[in-house]
Amino acid sequence: MGLFDFFSKSDSGAIEEGLKKTRESFFSRLGKAIAGKSTVDEEVLDNLEEMLVSSDVGIGTTLKIIDRINQRVARDKYLNTEELDRILKEEIAGLLRESDPAAGQNIPAPYVIMVVGVNGAGKTTTIGKLAARFSKEGKKVLLGAADTFRAAAVEQLKTWGQRSGVPVVDRGQDADPAAVAFDAVQEGVRQGADIVIVDTAGRLHTKTNLMQELTRIKKVMQKVVPGAPHEVLLVLDGSTGQNAVIQAREFTKATEVTALAITKLDGTARGGVVIGISDEFNIPVRYIGVGEKIDDLKPFNKEAFVESLFGKK
Ligand code: GDP
Ligand code: MG
Repeated sequence: MGLFDFFSKSDSGAIEEGLKKTRESFFSRLGKAIAGKSTVDEEVLDNLEEMLVSSDVGIGTTLKIIDRINQRVARDKYLNTEELDRILKEEIAGLLRESDPAAGQNIPAPYVIMVVGVNGAGKTTTIGKLAARFSKEGKKVLLGAADTFRAAAVEQLKTWGQRSGVPVVDRGQDADPAAVAFDAVQEGVRQGADIVIVDTAGRLHTKTNLMQELTRIKKVMQKVVPGAPHEVLLVLDGSTGQNAVIQAREFTKATEVTALAITKLDGTARGGVVIGISDEFNIPVRYIGVGEKIDDLKPFNKEAFVESLFGKK
């Protein structure tokens, strides 16, 4: 068993529910794009382009999708609008990047995950949900409260620790984040933890830049466990649409991000942002957040995502 192969059929329902707003707006737009048309012509493609952009797919990715559909139209002059659904699904699935099922396999414990992202993106909540998910599978988890910037941040992580029955290493507010990260990984080794997850701040106390700070945290982890962190998980708030894309650019410049979690897809019609982000950054989407509750974090699966976006026929 790898660490990340826990997608199950029972997750599909929750993903479908979570993507409801995106699906509804996506589809009312798709409906309008092809209204009264039997074949895919230039006007349909123009409408489709507008629909993808306004679903937060992003310009670059939208043009890529339109271009591919155009090529199909060139091949088959009378491409039926009824086939457009299927073709769009195929093209979108082709742009989505999910986790390699082998990820996290054969890595000596503890597997260290450093979680990064701006304030409010959903880092602490995602860590809490992950801790619950991993420990439910029988994994021994330990959390590190290295977001020492805000008073509430450490307490919030401790609350999640209690909720999921997982120990939390903290040194209180204002502690040096690197020192907390060091302690957490060391404690993980001492306790024989399978997974150590370290929270970080989206903002900094000092003027040191984000890149320096994240590099420093990584270095101290490596002192305890060579190769750590094994995963740098960037958490993005999907409901901010193109803002999430900008954050992804900033963070991938600051540190080597190995996986993405896109949160708050419930309650937003901007779920198309997952497609753009997946296409622009060569990084797998590991999880999606579809609510605030403990079991509202789902492993990302591209088939399930596309099915949820288009709905069952
Ligand atoms: P952090 O500052 O990055 O650690 O963000 P938090 O984990 O504190 O989350 C900020 C807010 O977003 C909290 O109110 C969370 O409950 C909420 N949140 C996080 N993930 C989700 C999600 O998937 N869906 C919804 N609806 N809310 C979320
Ligand atoms: Mg937090």
